[in-house]
Amino acid sequence: MTRVFPPDAGLPGTAFLCTHCNRAIPGTAPGTVHRNHCPHCLWSLHVDLATGDRRSACRGPMEPIAIGIQPNGEWSLVHRCRRCGMIRLNRIAGDDNEVLLVSMALRPLARPPFPLDRIGASALPEVQP
Ligand SMILES: [Zn+2]
Ligand SMILES: [Zn+2]
Repeated sequence: MTRVFPPDAGLPGTAFLCTHCNRAIPGTAPGTVHRNHCPHCLWSLHVDLATGDRRSACRGPMEPIAIGIQPNGEWSLVHRCRRCGMIRLNRIAGDDNEVLLVSMALRPLARPPFPLDRIGASALPEVQP
């Protein structure tokens, strides 16, 4: 799906149409200066070279792929650009979809890279004969 963006798309404070779920999103967001993703589906758009500068020519859709934790304990969304592959951390906003945020945070636990019953076995001290 290809969309044409108005020249001011992604400018700070500018309302936009989400390229993923097609909802109209107000330009301001509680808890953050720059709204950089859709609060409903959490997808973003690759518009920044540096945070907030809106100077990237890529304009690819950015998929929310994980939750990160900042040193101060604040949650971040990890976005990966579907067009160029760039990965970026973005602050969550006060009106982000909480069910989606929590389901993303739990995703690694739902698909562990090893059998869960091995955790208990490896935590036991070795028994000396
Ligand atoms: Zn959306
Ligand atoms: Zn990109």
